[in-house]
Amino acid sequence: MISVSLISILAYLLCVPLTAIMILWLYDSEKQYSRKAVPTRKIMCECDICLFHFTADKADKYVRCPRCKSLMERKALRKSRKN
Ligand SMILES: [Zn+2]
Repeated sequence: MISVSLISILAYLLCVPLTAIMILWLYDSEKQYSRKAVPTRKIMCECDICLFHFTADKADKYVRCPRCKSLMERKALRKSRKN
């Protein structure tokens, strides 16, 4: 008959869940680093009055500035300013 000590049973019962947790943790951290950029429905806008930059939904035709509360037609933020 095979004799197994109590210490080895306890060590086995402790090591198996810890190993499983470590494998899941490594898998999750690897998955986190491999995430790509997610397309969003938001677009950067600039207020015509106070020049505040904020995000707005692409579907909205009119947006309200969160700072000065003015309503304006949504247009994308200019890439560069040449004056
Ligand atoms: Zn504004």
